Parts: sequence; C-alpha cells; structure tokens
Amino acid sequence: MLVVMDKHATPADVEQVLAAVRHMGLTPHPMPGATRTAIGITGNISAVDPRTLEVLPGVLELIRVTKPFKLASREMHEADTFVRIPLPQEWKRGEEVTIGPGTFTLIAGPCSVENEDVVHRTAEWLMDRGVRLLRAGAFKPRTSPYAFQGLGLDGLEILARARERTGIGIVTELMDTDNADAVEEAADVIQIGTRNMQNFSLLRRVSRAGKPVLLKRGMSATLEEWLMAAEYVMAGGNYNVILCERGVRTFSDHSRNTLDLSVIPPVKRLSHLPILVDPSHGTGKRDYVPAMSLAALAAGADGLLVEVHPDPDHALSDGAQSLNFPGFEKLLESLKRLAEPLGKRIN
Ligand code: PEP
Ligand code: MN
Repeated sequence: MLVVMDKHATPADVEQVLAAVRHMGLTPHPMPGATRTAIGITGNISAVDPRTLEVLPGVLELIRVTKPFKLASREMHEADTFVRIPLPQEWKRGEEVTIGPGTFTLIAGPCSVENEDVVHRTAEWLMDRGVRLLRAGAFKPRTSPYAFQGLGLDGLEILARARERTGIGIVTELMDTDNADAVEEAADVIQIGTRNMQNFSLLRRVSRAGKPVLLKRGMSATLEEWLMAAEYVMAGGNYNVILCERGVRTFSDHSRNTLDLSVIPPVKRLSHLPILVDPSHGTGKRDYVPAMSLAALAAGADGLLVEVHPDPDHALSDGAQSLNFPGFEKLLESLKRLAEPLGKRIN
C-alpha cells in the first residue's frame, strides 16, 4: 500500500499517518519527493481497512501495490533511485559516486584479495584512470573446498590500507553473518554473492547495515525472486540496493554462465533500483568481456562490475575471465566512445 500525501500536507500530518500505520502493527517507509511525500506501507496489509488512513488530514489517496515486491517496485516508488557512495578521502569535501541513470559506473578489480601488492597496484592504476570503486573479495565462495578461499579478515585489512592510501571506494563480499561487522566496516558497498541471494538471515543483517548493498542475481533466480531478495534488504530499512546481473544457468555450455542482458529492460520497468552487469562471471572468458560490457551499456545498465588483474594468468581465482590492465584500458576507451551518443557519462 502507498499513501500519497497532498502537496500541502504538513510535517505533522505526515507524522500522524506514520503513527497510525505503526499502530496497525505495520511498517511505514516515508519517501519524501520533490513536491509531495509518499509513505510506503509494508507488513500484513490485507488485515487493514484503508479508510482509517484515507480520512487522516493531508492524505490525498491510497494506492494498492499489486506486485509482491513493494519497496523495490516502481508502483511504490516511481522515480529512479540513485545510490550515493561517499568516497573515503574526499569524504570531507562531500564527493561521492552516484549510481543510477545518466551515468555508467565502473567497479573493477581482482576477483580475490590476493596480497597487498596486487590490491594496491590495481587500486592506484584504477584511480589514475578515474575508476573510483575497487572490487576484490576477502571472503571467497569457492566451489571446491581445496581452492583458494580468500584471506578473510587479513584481506579486509589489505583493502582498508588500499582505501586509506589511494582514496578508492571498496566493494567486497559478505558471505555470512559472523563477519558482518568487519565487512560493514571495511566496505563502502557490501556485495551479496549469487550463492547467497536467498540467504534470508544474511539479507536481514545487511538490511540493518549503514552501507549500500550490491545484490547479485542468484544463478537460477527469476526476476521476481531477485526483486524479492532486494525487498528483504529494503524492508529492514536499507533502501540503497544496487542489483547486479552476473549470468544464469542454462543448457548453453560455450560460456561459464548465460549473461541475461534481456533482464535489464524488465528490471527498469518493474523497479526503480539501479542495475549493474558483471560480464566477467557472466561469460567466464576474458575475450568475451569487452563485447558484453558494451552490450550492457547499450541495453541500459547503470554500470559494470568487472574483474581486472595486473597478471591474470597467475591470479589465484578467476584469472581466465579477468582483463589485464591494457585490456581494461582499451575497454574503457570503447565505453567512453559509446557512452556519449547514449547520453551517459562514465563514472
Ligand atoms: C565475485 O564477484 O567474485 C563472485 C564470487 O561473484 P558471484 O557471486 O556472482 O559468483
Ligand atoms: Mn570472481
């Protein structure tokens, strides 16, 4: 349910609606807009008589939200969401990376935090080229228990030092609630991986985090299941969710996953949340990454999460799908050329 307030409604009117919603045992989510405030309501709405809210002062109308995902839907929140990520060093100057339409944000870096040198070199190199968000996993979800599992808490410290030295923002994965405090502290954006898209206790934990969440699509998730996962994060009060398409499982075996770029238009139609594309996990092969990156930009994505490594052939994980520095530089040039006619700015 969405309560739309009249443009002349006073803050006291809004407050009265919030209190009435809470009194019904439901959760209000105020969404101030340019001209009027709307209040999303979540909880067991069916038990509610809408007339009790309709008659309150300042209430213009009540709109029933038909989709199962509410806060993530365009029905409830018509305008596009822009997720703002304050940058570490520039924090005092109020500079931030804003993810959303009109821009195309690049998040790049190695699959894993391997050591200080790889992370630091990559962070510096990216910052020199205007890429202000570094991806790298300290906790790695690996198919084999014998594969490199990431450096864990030591990896987070390496990321914290790179952040401190270069001013780059950190995007890193949280795999379990045990490490939530540490990852929340180290990260500027908390990544939830494909295998955890429906780990509901983890989603509830990050719904209370003070940092944006990058929510990867489960490898067999429908669009509705994915948006319901976003709903978990938003229902707990964290509205800063960035979706990330990373490929799904199909019969097709020419690539690691099938990158579902066709999900972008329906995401944009049904939801106001920004969507990034991960062409690295989406294809599994570095040769395919540039074409899929350009296609993602053309298809309306808001940016990329892409694996880049100074020496991919010796990477400890996902080297085959990682670009080297010259490869990424070339991609960056092509993206800039394509972004211009599309009216987007590379971020
Ligand atoms: C990753 O980004 O390194 C990763 C493990 O991704 P996914 O969860 O999409 O497999
Ligand atoms: Mn990876």
